[in-house]
Parts: sequence; C-alpha cells; structure tokens
Amino acid sequence: MTFPVDLLALLLRTSKLAALTGAGVSQESGLRTFRDAQNGLWAQYRPEDLASPQAFARDPKLVWDWYAWRREAVKAVRPNPGHYALVEIEKRVPYFTLITQNVDGLHRMAGSQNVLELHGNIQRVRCAECALPAETWGDDTESVPTCAACGGLLRPDVVWFGEALPRDQLEAAVEAARACQVFFSIGTSGVVQPAASLAYAARNRGAVLVEVNLDPTPLTPKADFFLQGKSGEILPELVRAVWG
Ligand code: NAD
Ligand code: ZN
Repeated sequence: MTFPVDLLALLLRTSKLAALTGAGVSQESGLRTFRDAQNGLWAQYRPEDLASPQAFARDPKLVWDWYAWRREAVKAVRPNPGHYALVEIEKRVPYFTLITQNVDGLHRMAGSQNVLELHGNIQRVRCAECALPAETWGDDTESVPTCAACGGLLRPDVVWFGEALPRDQLEAAVEAARACQVFFSIGTSGVVQPAASLAYAARNRGAVLVEVNLDPTPLTPKADFFLQGKSGEILPELVRAVWG
C-alpha cells in the first residue's frame, strides 16, 4: 500500500492525535472480535446474551464461566505489531491519547502509557453489589465466588451492554476527541455507543479522520483517509512512512 505520505505525514508530525481502538486491533494477537462467530463450548450463545446484567441475573455461573474462559484466552496472548506501532506513535508526538474499547489490557502490556479503557479490563474482578475490587477469589468450579466484604457475587470489571461507561474515562476520551487534530479509528466496527460517537465529536471540531480497518464500516464515508488492511501491518507501515 502507498500512503499519501506528504500530506498525512505532515499532519501526523505536527498534530495532536487521538486514537480509538476496537477488537480488530487484538485480532492478530489471536483474540476473536465480538462479531466473529464464537466457537466450541460457547458457539450456541451470542456475546450480547452473555455480556449483560440481565444475563448475569439470569445465570451468573454461565456468565462467570464465559469470562473465566476469556480471561484465560487473554493470558495466553501477546501484543502484536499494531499495538507496538501505537507505542511508537505515542513516543514520537507530544499529544497522543489512546482510547480503547478492548478489555484485554494489550495496549498497556505493549507499553502504551496514556490509555483510556472505556469498557474496563477483563483481568479485574469486583463485587456486583458493593463494587469492591477483588484481588483473589477461590476457583470453586461449582459456584460464582463471592465478595469478602458483603457476600455479593463477584463479576468481571467490564462494561456490559446497557451499563454506563466509567465516567472519568469517558469524559477524558471526549475531551481528547474534541482537542485532537487527527483522530484514528482502528479495528472497530463503530456500532457500539457511545465509543462510536467519539469520531464524530472529533470531526465536528474539524479533526481529520483516519480509519484503519479490514473492511469498510459506517464511518468509512466520513473518513478523510481509509487505510484498508490489517492494523498489525498498516500501523507499522505508517510509522515507517511518517517517522522513518
Ligand atoms: P467488533 O467486533 O464490533 O469489530 C471489529 C472490527 O475490527 C471490524 O470492523 C473488523 O472489520 C475489524 N478488524 C478485524 N480484524 C482486523 C485487523 N486485523 N485489523 C484491522 N481491523 C480488523 O469490535 P468493537 O468495535 O471493538 O466492538 C465490540 C465490543 O466488543 C467492544 O465493546 C469491546 O469491548 C468488546 N470486545 C473486546 C475484545 C478485546 O478486548 N480484545 C474482544 C472482543 C470484543
Ligand atoms: Zn461486596
């Protein structure tokens, strides 16, 4: 792929940047995106039917086990060249905010510093009643572990469908989107709100939109640059082209 290097390079070298990433960025690490078909044990469930407060109320053990399975999958993977390219960008520009919808923690593992986790982190567990974080829990396979303080059920510290995002993270993300001059949307289908609205918040303030995705999304017609392909290939290529 050839980039319109002159224009984009000049912009990237001199601008405040923000980037929103989604499950696509972790796909090359071996983690499935939400909209990929699930396999094996979980093939019969839609993620939307497991990642909700209603699902947890209906069958907490099922939801706990699904997250335990995903937690193990995350432990087994490592960041890919796309994550590392974002670390490089952060080192090279004075203003860079990385906003992620991913719960896998791979951006921080790669070395990104300024990361906003909009949907929480799958490695953290907290009480569903009193919200107290839990550092350890018994892995009794019969039942969902409970909170040491109040006896409530423990749950993953992630944002489920229908739940509010952590307010501090969302406010900081909106601020970064409004303040940036170039906004990247990378490996996200752009259909989960309110994260999807960040690109529009940036654009309404005049930011240039750069989208990196395998396939076009609802955002693509609004993008000033659509870089089609794998983020683990496109982003390192972009870093080389712009910063050498
Ligand atoms: P999504 O599954 O809706 O969309 C993934 C997007 O990535 C698609 O547009 C797809 O075309 C693109 N894509 C796939 N592989 C790619 C690659 N190698 N390079 C570039 N693009 C690629 O994911 P979403 O938009 O993040 O929204 C789904 C929700 O699922 C989020 O709320 C997120 O929290 C959650 N989720 C997180 C993880 C994770 O933490 N790794 C995994 C699955 C789902
Ligand atoms: Zn509790």
